[in-house]
Amino acid sequence: MDFSLSPDQQALVDTASRFARERLAPGYRAREKAGRVEREIVAEMGAMGLLGAEFPESAGGLGVDCVTSGLLLEQVARGDFNVAYVNLLVSLCGQIVAQHASTDVAAEWLKPVIAGEKLIAIALTEPSAGSDAARIRLKATGDADGYVLDGEKTSISMATQADVAVVFARTGDEAERARGISAFLVPLDQPGVTRTAFDDIGTRPVGRGSIFFDGVRVPRGMMLGTEGQGFVQVMQGFDYSRALIGLQCMAVARVSLDEAWRYIREREAFGKPIGEFQGVTFPLAEAETHYEACRALCLRTLWLKDQGLPHTAEAAMCKWWAPKLACEIIHQCLLTHGHGGYGGDYPFGQRYRDVMGLQIGDGTANIMKMVIAREMAAGRQAE
Ligand SMILES: Cc1cc2nc3c(=O)[nH]c(=O)nc-3n(C[C@H](O)[C@H](O)[C@H](O)COP(=O)(O)OP(=O)(O)OC[C@H]3O[C@@H](n4cnc5c(N)ncnc54)[C@H](O)[C@@H]3O)c2cc1C
Repeated sequence: MDFSLSPDQQALVDTASRFARERLAPGYRAREKAGRVEREIVAEMGAMGLLGAEFPESAGGLGVDCVTSGLLLEQVARGDFNVAYVNLLVSLCGQIVAQHASTDVAAEWLKPVIAGEKLIAIALTEPSAGSDAARIRLKATGDADGYVLDGEKTSISMATQADVAVVFARTGDEAERARGISAFLVPLDQPGVTRTAFDDIGTRPVGRGSIFFDGVRVPRGMMLGTEGQGFVQVMQGFDYSRALIGLQCMAVARVSLDEAWRYIREREAFGKPIGEFQGVTFPLAEAETHYEACRALCLRTLWLKDQGLPHTAEAAMCKWWAPKLACEIIHQCLLTHGHGGYGGDYPFGQRYRDVMGLQIGDGTANIMKMVIAREMAAGRQAE
């Protein structure tokens, strides 16, 4: 067992870390006000190889493993949690496109997405289908030329900014549930596509919102995989994004803890630095313990993926634990900073609001625990 980074991994992480410190962190709060991620930033990340690094060089990636891609996303999230949504969506959707699009469609779309020239979104949720995603109703009606999409997707990250989306639609009967769902890659600049933005309490630069499809034509070649298999495909992809989300959340916990340790050395009360009171340091010591365990779980889950080993239960563990733990750690670090932490001098409030969204997005804690229980009850043995 070797927990060290190779020289190549370390060099990539150092590059991402510098970029996050210099280009992302200073704009974290301004991006919340602007309500968008600047395209120049996304393009810079693409040019530096920070997006979809796990894809082969022929597709514009760096050909590294998923662990390394996760380490890069983590560094980006240390600078700006919301910008790391771009990494997440490129990895999640890129994988679906790479595995299930025709060669021509993959060649047309994967490269610009990995290069940061086009933004991609994943559109599964609907007004009446969230956790129970097999209930979706958005209809894809087939004809001689392809399909026509009609319906609404809601709660979609990057809905306001994305150029293209992986859209799940019903090609079969509702009674077929998951078996009647297909996936399509849909450019969002087409006639019949409209969007509305949500007034969210956090992740405002991500621009969550609804996308409406009103008679939108999709050529047959834009179907991802085979008809009726779309749901199965997305569920596999989520095992990957769940581990990445874990690292994304742990990144914000790390930054908050670093600030708290720094602060307790400087702030004095009762004649000494507050770091000399165990009542101040013990909650941080506990947080460090939980942080290390959770981050290790996320990295191990990505390692399992890289080895081609089962990791569905581990991915669900990352997904329910990390966002909750990150919220708890941010909360503690805010309290450690006293009244200053509650005020505008520190971004603890924004961090808390941003991270909290991922206690819901990509599946709630209850759904993750159902996944873990299902896997373990089915007799999966720990190694
Ligand atoms: C920040 C954010 C980003 C998102 N980004 C995207 C995106 O990019 N693309 C996309 O398609 N969707 C996205 N979503 C939507 C997200 O995937 C759904 O919100 C999520 O799956 C839950 O669905 P729901 O909100 O409809 O809740 P519901 O399914 O209505 O659930 C409501 C509550 O009931 C609980 N519950 C439901 N069923 C059970 C059960 N069987 N047992 C126990 N408890 C249960 C849930 O845990 C939850 O607490 C995003 C959501 C958020 C908040």
